[in-house]
Amino acid sequence: MSTRQGPPKHQNKVAWKPHAGQKINETEVGGKFRPYSDITGVCARCKDQIDWKRRYGKYKPLSEPAKCQRCSKRAVRQAYHNLCTSCAKEHGVCAKCCCKTDKIVGRDITEVEAERKAVEDALKHARERDRRTLLRAMSKGSSEPKESEGSKIIDRSREGELFPAKSIDEYVAQAVENNIRDQQDSLICN
Ligand SMILES: [Zn+2]
Ligand SMILES: [Zn+2]
Repeated sequence: MSTRQGPPKHQNKVAWKPHAGQKINETEVGGKFRPYSDITGVCARCKDQIDWKRRYGKYKPLSEPAKCQRCSKRAVRQAYHNLCTSCAKEHGVCAKCCCKTDKIVGRDITEVEAERKAVEDALKHARERDRRTLLRAMSKGSSEPKESEGSKIIDRSREGELFPAKSIDEYVAQAVENNIRDQQDSLICN
């Protein structure tokens, strides 16, 4: 074994890239348009390991849910996890190495779910005008709208682009439907 210390003698100038020179289909899982989902429910060490696989082109996403090693249900939805989310949470362990840890990486999936539900509820009960503002903010992400609020209200001709649905309720229903579809899609994304 080498006892040499310090940085490598011939350090790469540019970080190594997997599949360099190969054309990537950006609409495939892991491409620009369908990025991998966040690594959650594991300890920091396992997160690093999964992250390494992603960075070096070794990551193999799950095509269908895997069996949980504790409850034997097909409920493991993230690649390289050994336990399902509920088992890992119940025992307070990392979903990959099953070590007891109090530092779990990423947000709790049930927490995220609850938050989304809260937003949907808020949308249902909000006034029409507030709903529009909220939906617009959500669809734009964090970026601030460049046009002023006033000009948007006057310019009704462009509303069809922003709201393909006939009514706000229809739009919310569509959004919920899309969410369900996204959830199904995320199976392959993980
Ligand atoms: Zn389980
Ligand atoms: Zn772990």
